Amino acid sequence: MANAATAPRKVLIIGGGFAGLECARKLANDDRFEVTLLDRTNHHLFQPLLYQVATASLAAPDIARSIRQILCDAANVTVLMDEVTAISPTEKTVTGRTGGKYAFDYLVLAAGAKTGFFGNDQWEENSLGLKSLADAQDIRRKILSNLERAELTTDEAERGRLMTIAIVGGGPTGVELAGACADLIHRSLKSNFRRIDTAKLRVILIENSPEILEHYAPHQSAYAKERLQKLGVEVRNQTRVTDVRKGELLFLDGSSLKAEAIVWAAGIAANPLTKDLGVETDRAGRVTPNADLSIPGHPDIFVAGDLTNMKDREGKFVPGVAPAATQMGAHIAKLLKEELRLETTRFADRKHDLRPLFKYTDKGMMAIIGKSAAVMKVGDFTMNGFPAWIAWLLIHILFLIGFRNKLSVLIGWAYAYIVNNPEARIIVHPPASAAPQKG
Ligand SMILES: Cc1cc2nc3c(=O)[nH]c(=O)nc-3n(C[C@H](O)[C@H](O)[C@H](O)COP(=O)(O)OP(=O)(O)OC[C@H]3O[C@@H](n4cnc5c(N)ncnc54)[C@H](O)[C@@H]3O)c2cc1C
Repeated sequence: MANAATAPRKVLIIGGGFAGLECARKLANDDRFEVTLLDRTNHHLFQPLLYQVATASLAAPDIARSIRQILCDAANVTVLMDEVTAISPTEKTVTGRTGGKYAFDYLVLAAGAKTGFFGNDQWEENSLGLKSLADAQDIRRKILSNLERAELTTDEAERGRLMTIAIVGGGPTGVELAGACADLIHRSLKSNFRRIDTAKLRVILIENSPEILEHYAPHQSAYAKERLQKLGVEVRNQTRVTDVRKGELLFLDGSSLKAEAIVWAAGIAANPLTKDLGVETDRAGRVTPNADLSIPGHPDIFVAGDLTNMKDREGKFVPGVAPAATQMGAHIAKLLKEELRLETTRFADRKHDLRPLFKYTDKGMMAIIGKSAAVMKVGDFTMNGFPAWIAWLLIHILFLIGFRNKLSVLIGWAYAYIVNNPEARIIVHPPASAAPQKG
């Protein structure tokens, strides 16, 4: 019979995103661990392709897969769909919205981030974020419904507002979304309307900094801007938003912009569960863990992915990207396995001191700029244009989980590319004509 020392350790993972899923996969079928993965949704989401769902190039199932299905062969992993509402580090329990209480020996908090508004949470009401499948579907519904309403109205001012998409934030998400919106509107939907002239549709990308894609090389920021402008996107740098109202943005210089679709891609905030950990967080709510990814004062609680703000063991900043989250999830699994091994040796007392420290391997950054162009940066190496787009395409397909997803994404893309005709354009649940921003 198992005693306390040999009983499987209860590992509770919150979040089936890149970090949590990788941790569960790496612990799969190791019977020294009894793993429970909690997620508020039933799917793992490939966020890098969300913008393609938002702009009708892909359908939602193309970029998501059931977590239960992914882990079905992992006999020691239980997947539960529950939203965690509270963590008690001292009791070593977690509470779910369903009322469930889950005890743990080890906790891995990998619940990701949400759209952040720099303390102006009221702006959320009047804008659309891009963090979940629901968000992407809201944006798509909003854009397509606005075009339908523009085709119906005879009021010129209203038509102008309906035909304007404002995207706040010139990072990769904003740039990719702006390029894809321009492609959708100026190429794909060109011949679909009779009353409105789609050439008059405006996609406006608003960025507070002097450059868009500011983490890329300066020549890449300039390339991205020029490329977007060629696609018909108006790029406004050094433009600070001071208020987001329903259908209207206000700027620091006193000017304003009327846009029925406002997408907020300017910031992220860590999942609010980080507050329950009782450790210091930064302004975005992110935790700086110890170098082994445990949190100060709690060697059995780990954090991983987008809700961290840290440097690795070599002092390299760890960015909020999918490869970093995956590497963190894998690191924690490796650490736990090693820790259990040490417990059976004469080093058992020093198991916490002997933990491996996290090292981040930079896999580079990429952003796609409309159809057939991208920028790529790996260390000092940079690449722009069509070759970077091909590299982006191959890497993203390889990353997608599961053969079904890969094949359907590939076919969908190829089709849309050849005929310039994105298929996922059906509006399900159209908003009433007077519907608020949320679509
Ligand atoms: C639009 C967009 C484009 C991106 N493009 C790229 C890109 O091109 N390349 C790249 O490397 N990275 C990209 N990223 C970033 C990348 O997706 C993230 O860095 C990565 O998803 C972080 O992984 P994570 O595991 O920390 O969190 P996530 O992947 O966000 O997973 C968190 C999980 O936790 C679950 N969860 C949240 N709260 C709770 C709760 N209370 N209870 C239970 N479950 C909960 C969520 O449902 C989710 O499944 C992009 C992100 C976005 C939003």
